[in-house]
Amino acid sequence: MKTIGLLGGMSWKSTLVYYRAINEGIKNALGGLHSAKIAMYSVNFEPIEKLQHAGDWEGTAEILSEAAKNVQTAGADFLLICTNTMHKVAPEIEMAIQIPLLHIADATAQIIVNENIKSVGLLGTAFTMEQEFYKGRLTDKYGLQVLTPNKNDRQIVHKVIYEELCMGKVKDYSKAEYLRIIDALSAQGAEAIILGCTEIGILVNQADTDVTVLDTTAIHAKKAVEYAIT
Ligand code: GLU
Repeated sequence: MKTIGLLGGMSWKSTLVYYRAINEGIKNALGGLHSAKIAMYSVNFEPIEKLQHAGDWEGTAEILSEAAKNVQTAGADFLLICTNTMHKVAPEIEMAIQIPLLHIADATAQIIVNENIKSVGLLGTAFTMEQEFYKGRLTDKYGLQVLTPNKNDRQIVHKVIYEELCMGKVKDYSKAEYLRIIDALSAQGAEAIILGCTEIGILVNQADTDVTVLDTTAIHAKKAVEYAIT
């Protein structure tokens, strides 16, 4: 079994979900007392969030590249960055290490392509919904049509992530807002909605809606399990 490298802490609320999902995945696949071999480095999110909102992505890349090197040194055979947003600096992180990176957008897009879905809605931080590093990868590399919420709704989605979910707050009102936004994207033609932030699965899941939702945390963790045991 390969050792799974996790670059976590962004936020630690979703890193917990990764840790559990990966261990459950290994247990389901191998049975008995099998559990995942994991090397994790969990960062302090506060300074990273400040750099993000100041637009200092180079600063975030420096911190995360150092952290990724530590994961590699700890014995990881490959790396997962446990956040969609920080894949913005995935190229810099990849340059700093020799082990492969399992990109969260690729893992998600492979499922979308396999399901023959052509048009998807995307929920995530404003960075993920508005910038090319994520949306562009889905359109350019996989030929997908990517729909995002209107400006006001993007602000709601973004605010709930940083001010509630990353702080461990789960509110009924915010859940209703997310479900309204999911329905609006579906009405615009999205065949499925990417929950493109690793905390969104804490707020909404497939049982809450008839619209197909793709939880990037669950997808990324499953991919890691498959890669670790093949
Ligand atoms: N975990 C979130 C994501 O998947 C947001 C926190 C961050 O900015 O990393 O995008």
